[in-house]
Amino acid sequence: MSIRDNILRVREAVETVKAKKGIVRKVALCAATKTRSLEEVKEALRAGADMVGENRIQEAREKFPFVPDAQRHFIGHLQKNKIKYTFDLFSCIQSVDSIELLRALDLAAVKRDRDMDLFIEINIAGEESKYGFPPGRAEEIMGAAAECERVRVTGLMAMLPLTDDDSLLHRKAAEAYRLYERFRSWDNGKNIAVEWLSMGMSQDYLIAVEEGSNLIRIGTALFGERGV
Ligand SMILES: *Cc1c(COP(=O)(O)O)cnc(C)c1O
Repeated sequence: MSIRDNILRVREAVETVKAKKGIVRKVALCAATKTRSLEEVKEALRAGADMVGENRIQEAREKFPFVPDAQRHFIGHLQKNKIKYTFDLFSCIQSVDSIELLRALDLAAVKRDRDMDLFIEINIAGEESKYGFPPGRAEEIMGAAAECERVRVTGLMAMLPLTDDDSLLHRKAAEAYRLYERFRSWDNGKNIAVEWLSMGMSQDYLIAVEEGSNLIRIGTALFGERGV
């Protein structure tokens, strides 16, 4: 199966779920590019991926400068000492998981006289091992975001728990959607304008879409199993 065929298959599966549920909104497809070659990244974009997402800075530095016209998202855990690379590499940082990181990004943006779009990553699974801000404290980080000068909050990112339990996945995805609706209500006409709910990976994207995700991040189902 080619990357193109795989993208078509994922899109068709998404459309089937949307039709079943009466969902009309567009669902954006982010190709998750970790461990993939520049050629694979380019092929995914040619075949119609809406954006690319990388979760390792080093890998992004090897690939993303060569696809400058694509929407390039960061989807991994960002260390503060790597912030300096993000402005040239990415058009959006999906994985802002602390107030400290949010403020450091804003400071860096101000210093560079640049804007940066970002999503708040929420730890919806509630797992210790996962990154993300606790859902119960979402108000706090949105309050801090409202006070920022050059960063714009345009989405919420969530990772569903690693489980085969579909009913648990549905519950968690629905919880993320409710939080997304609250995020939307915090629109301040300035720098908070939440449009995206980034949720769903190869294992769980159909459940995520069914519960309201409008941005799925897909690696394995596009490129095949990862070697490393
Ligand atoms: C790797 C990765 C994905 C894609 O995972 P697959 O299971 O390969 O589809 C999505 N989101 C994040 C944050 C990732 O690191």
